[in-house]
Amino acid sequence: MNFLYDVWDDFLSLLFPRLCYACGNHLMRNEKLICTECYILIPRTNYHLDENNPVAQLFWGRCKIEKAAAFSFYNRASRIRSLIHNLKYKGIRDIGFELGRIYGTALFNSGFISGIDLIIPVPLHKSKLRQRGFNQSDLISDGLSEATGLPVTKEVLERRHVSDTQTRRSRYERWVNVKDIFNITQPSVIEGKHVLLVDDVITTGSTIEACVNELLKAEGVRVSVVALAAAVM
Ligand SMILES: [Zn+2]
Repeated sequence: MNFLYDVWDDFLSLLFPRLCYACGNHLMRNEKLICTECYILIPRTNYHLDENNPVAQLFWGRCKIEKAAAFSFYNRASRIRSLIHNLKYKGIRDIGFELGRIYGTALFNSGFISGIDLIIPVPLHKSKLRQRGFNQSDLISDGLSEATGLPVTKEVLERRHVSDTQTRRSRYERWVNVKDIFNITQPSVIEGKHVLLVDDVITTGSTIEACVNELLKAEGVRVSVVALAAAVM
């Protein structure tokens, strides 16, 4: 029976090939979403092992952050970019959870998350959420939660405005654009807690900065930050 099943499986994969979402090569029977080569070759920043890493430095003098890190490097040719693209724009939700789980395991094993109480995803605006059907940061957070055991709290922070596409804006313009877009709805939930804020990609850091400043309105709160990828080196 197993043999017949395998033949049937191979036949199906000829008709409906399962491809790696990072490189486009065919997946082997035991591979899911990402091929083994990509899993190994996705360049890890290992920023979680260095408290003065470039992502942490990005926020120096801008907002008070305990620790900051990113899983991989974001650039035009990077495998993580293809993965995030497939997650956000092709709606392959499992990618978010899987990458969150992989990164969460590294964060857990290194002790990076020790002392952290809960995870908060960077929220999407309601209209964007309706349009996309999901928040990629929620999915990443769920994967991080699976690997670390930390709870995810999605109701503490809300996005009040839709920010338009930011690619052509200067850092100052982006900062003005995002400064007031977040709102803390239930500060009491995070009072005295150490929060891990989660985003998909960190570029200028202005979105994170706006979130952190809003979260810090809760008394005694401390904030750390992680993302799947960072465009800073
Ligand atoms: Zn691949």
